[in-house]
Amino acid sequence: MAVYMRAAVLHAPGDLRVDDVRDPEPRRGSIVARVLLALTCGTDVKLYKRGHPLAKLPNIIGHEFVGVVEEVGEGVPEDLRGRRFVTMNTSPCGGCFYCSVGRENLCERLGELIIGFTISGAYAERIEIPERIWRRYFYQIQENLDPVEAAFLEPLSTVVHGQRVLGKVEGEWVAVIGSGPIGLLHLQLLKLEGLRVAVIDRHWEKLSVAERLGADITINSRETRVEDMVRNINGGRGFDAVVEAAGKLEAWELALKLVRKGGKILFFGGLPRGTGITIDSYRIHYEEVEILGAFHTTPRDVEKTYKIIESRKLRLKELVSGSKPLEKVQEALESMASGQGLKYIITGR
Ligand SMILES: [Zn+2]
Ligand SMILES: [Zn+2]
Repeated sequence: MAVYMRAAVLHAPGDLRVDDVRDPEPRRGSIVARVLLALTCGTDVKLYKRGHPLAKLPNIIGHEFVGVVEEVGEGVPEDLRGRRFVTMNTSPCGGCFYCSVGRENLCERLGELIIGFTISGAYAERIEIPERIWRRYFYQIQENLDPVEAAFLEPLSTVVHGQRVLGKVEGEWVAVIGSGPIGLLHLQLLKLEGLRVAVIDRHWEKLSVAERLGADITINSRETRVEDMVRNINGGRGFDAVVEAAGKLEAWELALKLVRKGGKILFFGGLPRGTGITIDSYRIHYEEVEILGAFHTTPRDVEKTYKIIESRKLRLKELVSGSKPLEKVQEALESMASGQGLKYIITGR
């Protein structure tokens, strides 16, 4: 067995190097898997460009992946070896107040173990997965399922959680702000509910993917005043719901303008701590605009997500812009940062 493997190590924001690092060995309760493929994620781009409050550097990054179990630690069933599986990047503790009331996404101990943030990630040939994570989330990938689709478990589960927070939409029109992978996942779930969806973004390339995936209208906010477009959509009433999936202050502010009275806004894209937004109190009181936030996911959302993936109702591979070898992770992240690529497959070699 090799003592060293190749892995993409983020030493500091902007300083990502593919190095030889020690091959992981399974500790008690953990498993070591060969990474079949990993996906890039917007969070990786943020982490690579600016760092992240939860991340401990230097660290191997990457947290969306599919693996094959190669080695098992003490106390782990031997028959896991050879299984092709997907898991999550972290797992709630199960013992804190938030876990006990079913709000595991807010678990007080979530930050302890996060693959690609506080523990070694998946842009590597091999990865160790601690017991707390794989014991809760271990989905063996059946022969008929494309591993690329299975690798969407983590991002899709956060979107499934967001949709649960949003709840039933009264009416028919929803706006999704942001046509990145997350916005496009929201779009697809909303379409499954039979809703009409307008997708708003600043890049035509991304909007064309939204169109392919069933968006009823796409609006380029760089070229059009979105508020004017809304007037043509439903007599200017505004959207019955708005999903903000851009993670930009302008998008948050736009969401507040687009929602109709009695409508709901789901703020999905996080902004740095301390970022303030101005809300006209009139909208909340006299117009009963509902303001919701969604962060991360919970075990029941993950469970539901895997079933959705297995149902193959979503066109997940449409969100993949291409495939790159591990040595070119940086290129993939740069392409995403420039607004070109949506998501890349990173292969072990
Ligand atoms: Zn992710
Ligand atoms: Zn907890």
